[in-house]
Amino acid sequence: MMGHDKAQALDLREALKRWFGFDHFRPGQEAVVRDALAGRDLLAIMPTGGGKSLCFQLPALLKPGLMIVVSPLIALMQDQVRLLGEMGIAATFLNSSLSAAEASARSAALLRGEYRLLYLAPERLLLPEFRDGLLARLAQDPGISAITVDEAHCVSEWGHDFRPEYRQLGSLREQFADVPARIPFWAFTATATARVRGDIVAQLRLQDASVHIASFNRPNLYYAVRPKTQQTYAQLLALAREGGAGIVYCLSRKRVDEIAAKLAADDVRVAPYHAGLDADTRRDNQERFIRDDAQVIVATVAFGMGINKPDVRWVAHYDLPRTMEGYYQEAGRAGRDGEASRCILFFGLGDIRTAEFLIGQKTHPETNLPLEQEQRLARQQLRQVVDYAESGECRRAIQLRYFGEVFEDNCGACDNCLETKVTEDWTLEAQQLLSCVARLAQRGERFGSAHVIDILRGSEAQKLIDRGHQQLSTYGIGKARSLDEWRTLVRTLLHQGLLDETSDGYPVLKLAAASREVLKGERSVLVVPPPKRETAAMRKAKK
Ligand code: ADP
Ligand code: ZN
Repeated sequence: MMGHDKAQALDLREALKRWFGFDHFRPGQEAVVRDALAGRDLLAIMPTGGGKSLCFQLPALLKPGLMIVVSPLIALMQDQVRLLGEMGIAATFLNSSLSAAEASARSAALLRGEYRLLYLAPERLLLPEFRDGLLARLAQDPGISAITVDEAHCVSEWGHDFRPEYRQLGSLREQFADVPARIPFWAFTATATARVRGDIVAQLRLQDASVHIASFNRPNLYYAVRPKTQQTYAQLLALAREGGAGIVYCLSRKRVDEIAAKLAADDVRVAPYHAGLDADTRRDNQERFIRDDAQVIVATVAFGMGINKPDVRWVAHYDLPRTMEGYYQEAGRAGRDGEASRCILFFGLGDIRTAEFLIGQKTHPETNLPLEQEQRLARQQLRQVVDYAESGECRRAIQLRYFGEVFEDNCGACDNCLETKVTEDWTLEAQQLLSCVARLAQRGERFGSAHVIDILRGSEAQKLIDRGHQQLSTYGIGKARSLDEWRTLVRTLLHQGLLDETSDGYPVLKLAAASREVLKGERSVLVVPPPKRETAAMRKAKK
């Protein structure tokens, strides 16, 4: 005789085949589906492309009643409803794009139990007339099988797409207080930091939720960081010419237009995408990319959420992403079909300055946090991204660590695992820098890295003369190293805890406890040198 579990597994497998045409569950899917069918509250965190949708769509078909799916974007709803329709699954959405006649026809069909899934934006679900009207009637008949909250990280200010309305979804609990069978809430997201997770459970009032966290590893993605140089555009063009659909992410609209124009001039079929384009153009460009009319889309981060293009072969970041999580999500739009794909991040020191400038310039917070706290968070996030870009460690291991996952092995599919990075012993330079900071401290002074580097490189700037810093014994002892090299050293020392940064209204350097070990020669300092900058003279020499 077959055990109950085994029988259910077979039933589920059959349903999977029958409705979706798949032979096997992806890792993690089956466990989520089972807990969903058991009527429990659920929090499922799965990486982009992991197959989240199926985890609520299959239970929606197997449970009696209507499933309500809360979705943040109209485009996302339309896309899912269309895909379900193609599979012969009765799903619909209600949103402001519908005529009154269409909306009331759909409402009537919903009440007759003709649909299995209803997609809604949170705003609509929370409207009093909707709650007390259609929703209340649906809850009685045909009944609501579950409330699925897709992109559930939107409840959290700590996530990257905070949506205030998502916070009120918990209040629906009272709405359904008089419905005989408890309606479970299922939260799905690809964002898994512990803080966001906690927020989701609290805000959606998940009770005794079964929590599923799938691995965030995307084994088919290759990750690399390349120095930003004069050749960066040429490298990008080469990537595009190798073929395959690609996304180029840039920080600003201006840069998007500039790169898109260059690629077009080089005969690449390209479309730009950013919030400065009108809605029609944006939609057209997105569709051209999805249909492969445009091979490459050059975009700001405005592009991507809910775009279901499985065969993106490469994602290039022309500018530094703002957060690790953003990077993971954006790069993760490559290879959703499981085929090998590449994620290349171009990184230059100028990116750090630009990012810092943009953070400093903010006058209004984008979240509910006070401005100052938001800026501090943004700087901390920037530091994480810079750490990633500068690290010699496995890129995959760093990314996964960010999501609380331990990845031990050499991944074999990132630049750091495949290429050996050359480190150099810069203990002497480190001692020079640290003793300069120490000398200043003896005089009761503290300065930021730019000033300290100026002293080491023997700058003639007036501010040094005024302060008598030309008299310091460390003045001019570091002329042999470039500004880039000194900056890299400062960051390396900060990362390794051999130097500290604190605030005197602006960031200033101070010795760390471990600095002494370097000064005393008890500890050496290894640095991955920055790429050599091409000087105008070098470029001329080549021509
Ligand atoms: P996400 O988790 O990003 O929402 P989707 O639900 O859109 O991911 O799924 C990503 C892709 O994987 C889709 O094309 C989907 O059809 C496919 N997929 C999902 N589950 C399976 C499965 N068990 N077997 C094969 N393909 C699957
Ligand atoms: Zn690796």
